[in-house]
Amino acid sequence: MNLNQFNINNFNDFGLNKELLKIIYNIGYKIPTEIQVRCIPAFLRGKDILAIAKTGSGKTASFVLPILNNIKINNDLQVLIITPTRELVIQIYNFFKLFINYFKKIKILSLYGGQNYNIEFNNLKNKPNIVIATPGRLLDHINRKTIYLTNIKILVIDEADEMLHMGFIKDVKIIIKNIKILHQTALFSATMSFHIYKITKNIMNNPEEIILNKNKINLNIVQYYCFINYKFKINTLMKFLETENFIRLIIFVKTKDFSLKLSSLLEKKGYLSSALNGDINQNLREKIILNFRNGLIKILVATDVASRGLDISDVNLIINYDLPYNINSYIHRIGRTGRANNIGKAILFLEKKDLKFLNLINKKFNNNIKRINIPNFNTLLDFRFNKILDLIKKNFYRNNLILNFYKSFLEKIINNLDNKEILDITLSLLILVYENNFSKISYKDLLKFK
Ligand code: AMP
Repeated sequence: MNLNQFNINNFNDFGLNKELLKIIYNIGYKIPTEIQVRCIPAFLRGKDILAIAKTGSGKTASFVLPILNNIKINNDLQVLIITPTRELVIQIYNFFKLFINYFKKIKILSLYGGQNYNIEFNNLKNKPNIVIATPGRLLDHINRKTIYLTNIKILVIDEADEMLHMGFIKDVKIIIKNIKILHQTALFSATMSFHIYKITKNIMNNPEEIILNKNKINLNIVQYYCFINYKFKINTLMKFLETENFIRLIIFVKTKDFSLKLSSLLEKKGYLSSALNGDINQNLREKIILNFRNGLIKILVATDVASRGLDISDVNLIINYDLPYNINSYIHRIGRTGRANNIGKAILFLEKKDLKFLNLINKKFNNNIKRINIPNFNTLLDFRFNKILDLIKKNFYRNNLILNFYKSFLEKIINNLDNKEILDITLSLLILVYENNFSKISYKDLLKFK
């Protein structure tokens, strides 16, 4: 992107207030993203905005920054942000929190299904200036007359296409009807459709249309596919888990039921894993996401809706275990990796009958989806050999007590034995460690592979 084209070289050029700028640089942002370059100036001028941008593009900051810049310090509820899922509410709320700690007089509140009503009633009495809410819960408060939208000056509708998907648009329309005064509206959607276009015509006044390059490919995500007979899917998954070097992994599956089954299977195999689906209660979902963020969970087995908008850095692998519902779902799933300039990898499991889907996405991504080989027995053995050798080396060098005791013995293993002997010892260790997996393979068979 050529920033000069918009006369913006860095965050200073937006004319944002100084405190805000300080925090932006403290967070570590150096250059605004394309959506920020195009959205922030229009937002600051009070224009209505229709932005077609995906999560990962930096869209949250493109509305949070001008909101914080323009907000007045008083007791009015001035800003309303509606978004389809609780996770997104929390994510946006947390993003605001980075700033609110400095702008102490601005009060912000999140409202979403599953949260305790009494807490929400009390917090509403505290006169928040900014509310971030899911449509259902917000409508509930409107009906109970615990919230009034009379002074709303800015309305943000986030992930509008997903609102449509989940049947929330009716609720959103009722909410908008409750905002009586002239206000600024910004609508964000990952995709554009006739429906979205119609909605914007009805609720916006000559909006600034910001459509990010539709065919732009996120070059940070390397995409692969492989064909697998469905009977061997679990087996194949296990092979990839052993050979792929992942920090955090999300495995996408079709049903809530299977997300639980697969996750508990992974746990049995020793992986730090958890399911994430719409049936899991709110508190637990938040805890799971927090643990995933903190690294206490390494693998999430997720369904689409539950993971919408998840922004977690260090997710460097996505496995589409079950076929996505459509191209948008595919794009959304792989978009959980390769975020904010990190490199990510996505692997799609296909059956022969899914060739059509592969062709569709390949067309979308300019034939950039490459075939990946399923790790074969030799590859797995190599990994296991190396893992055990690493273990021996690590323990040998790290633990001083063991080191002294075993020093001469281990030195011999590592330095003096010939290859054949090292191989023998390693194979014996392999059999010991991987007893279950190797029970049907004789020591002789193993030797054939080296
Ligand atoms: P979003 O699309 O709002 O979900 O943002 C995706 C990720 O990009 C988040 O982790 C943001 O913190 C990060 N991000 C947003 N704007 C910038 C920027 N100008 N420079 C670096 N990272 C950013």
